[in-house]
Formats: sequence, C-alpha cells, structure tokens
Amino acid sequence: MQRASQTDGREAERAALLRDVEAEIDETAEMTGLPRLPEAVRKAFLAVPRHWFVPQAHQAAAYDNHPLPIGAGQTISQPYIVALMTALSGAGPGKRVLEIGTGCGYQAAVLAETGAEVWTVEFVESLAASAAERLATLGYGRIHARQGDGNKGWPEAAPFDAIVVTAAAPSVPEALTDQLAPGGRLVIPVGPRSLPARAFFGGQELRVIEKAADGSLSERSALPVAFVPLVKG
Ligand code: SAH
Repeated sequence: MQRASQTDGREAERAALLRDVEAEIDETAEMTGLPRLPEAVRKAFLAVPRHWFVPQAHQAAAYDNHPLPIGAGQTISQPYIVALMTALSGAGPGKRVLEIGTGCGYQAAVLAETGAEVWTVEFVESLAASAAERLATLGYGRIHARQGDGNKGWPEAAPFDAIVVTAAAPSVPEALTDQLAPGGRLVIPVGPRSLPARAFFGGQELRVIEKAADGSLSERSALPVAFVPLVKG
C-alpha cells in the first residue's frame, strides 16, 4: 500500500514502540502463550501511522505504549494489546478478519497491514463515520467499515478466520462464535464493566476461543485486561 506513512518522519518512534511492545510480549509470554510476535504483525506495526489515529492534543504521546482518549468516552487501545490480539487471532495474508469496536480504526489498520481482508463494526455513529473517512484517506480501501451493533457480527460476510473484539462483553455473543470458520479464532475480553479506579485489573479476562474442524469450541484465558464495555444495541 502506498501511503504518507512511508516518509512521515516518525519511523524511528514506531521502531522504538515496537521494541517496547516486544519486550512486554516477552515478559507476558508465559501467561499469554505467545512467545514472540509473528513477522506479519511486526511489519504491520512499523507500517501503521498511529499518530493519524490519535487526537491533536495527544500527538506527542502517539507512539507511547499506552491507551489514549479518542472522544465519545472511548479510547485507542494500548499498542501492546493491539499487537497481542492481532497475533492471537492468527490474522495474516489471505485471512478474513472481523473486528468489533472500530473506535478510531487503528486496530483495523494493523489487521489489514498483516495482509488480511478486514470487516469492522462500530456502534457510535460519529466514531464509525470518522474512522471510515480516516481509513479511506490513508489508503486502507480493503477495509469494510460500518456502523452497527457488533454483538450481531457481520452475517453477510461470515464465516471469518478470526474475530477480534475490542470492547468487553459480559458473556461471549453467540452470533460471533456462529460466524467463526472451522479452525477460526475469536479473541474477546469478557467480564464486568471496569471501573476507572481499578483500571488495570477490572476483573475482565482476554479469552481465545477456537473452533475445531468439527465445529466444537475450546477456550483459554490469556490475560487479565481492562476494556471499555461492549454495549447492547
Ligand atoms: N479498536 C479500537 C479500540 C476501540 S475502544 C482501537 O483500535 O484502538 C472500543 C470501541 O468499541 C469503542 O469505540 C466503542 O464505541 C465500541 N463498541 C462498544 N460496544 C459496541 C458494539 N456493541 N458494537 C460495536 N462497537 C462497539
């Protein structure tokens, strides 16, 4: 893909961010079961201009390994979490990937840069509209973005090889496991609404759910997490 990011002057910051993210992936490997980032995810991280997804007021922090506010009470996820979820989902060339919770579109862009075809759904109309515009401007024409309730998935485009949910669900929506292809993976934070005071451990866990060839589901917990809630439409 041809984009401004290739000569935007922030390449060194992206490389430094990737080093921070890889250090954290290494530190948490025992818990997550992910020893290192696949090359497709490393490349995606170096390619996506995160500063385009971050509000003006936070430009200086755009390549810090932290979540940041993006308006409408929502956040752009911590880069480490984006890398972890992308890797755990198995996103890569030729994969069909659904994301729930577009937000500013950063995770969708990272998924697309792995070579996957991406569908992404956002509930808040203003965010869905601005993310779609931003992704188009940056040349991510292969990303299908729409406003809607992600609890329902995207039935017309199913089945998916991977589904990545970037908001915490009280329980796993059945529509999402239904829309997984055999061999597919759903990566989803599950648990109660996290309180700001307990921002780090809100009692949510990141689950990896895998659908076997015979359609049966298995799941494991990969990490304690704190996500904004997946609302009911
Ligand atoms: N993926 C984003 C993170 C977004 S935060 C990133 O790259 O940084 C989670 C997003 O999920 C918010 O924008 C929120 O509005 C959205 N969301 C919450 N409930 C939803 C639902 N039921 N369907 C779709 N999006 C939802």
